[in-house]
Amino acid sequence: MSRSLPTPSKISQPFWDSCKAEHMQIQRCEDCGVYAFYPVYICPECASRKLAWMPVSGKGTIHTFTVAAKSSFEIQGPLVVALVELEEGAMMVSNIKTATPEALSIGSPVRLTYEEVSDEITLPMFEPA
Ligand SMILES: [Zn+2]
Repeated sequence: MSRSLPTPSKISQPFWDSCKAEHMQIQRCEDCGVYAFYPVYICPECASRKLAWMPVSGKGTIHTFTVAAKSSFEIQGPLVVALVELEEGAMMVSNIKTATPEALSIGSPVRLTYEEVSDEITLPMFEPA
C-alpha cells in the first residue's frame, strides 16, 4: 500500500512550495507575532488576517509520539508519528526518521529534514538532533 499524499489547497500551497524548496515556511501573525500551523486565514491567537509566510529554524522538540510496530505503508524502518513543537512555538504532526525509536523520548530535540515523495510533494519530517 502506498502512502496517501496531501493535496495542496490555495491556503496550503505556499507551505508545500517551501517544503519542495527544502526551506519550510509557516505563517506568522504580523499583529501578535504568533506562528501558526496548519495554514490558516485568520490568526488563531488574535483573529488578525495579517499572516506572512516566514522560514522556520528547523529546530524542535518531541511533544509526544507513538511508534507503529507494523505499517502497511511501503516505508523503511519503524513508523514514528510525532507531535513536534517547533522552536517558533507552533505544533506539527509529522514523522521522526530513526532506526532506533526506543532512544526517543518526550522532550527530545529534533531537526527538520525532508523526503521527496512525488514530483509535487516533499514531506517535512524530523530526525533526532
Ligand atoms: Zn495574531
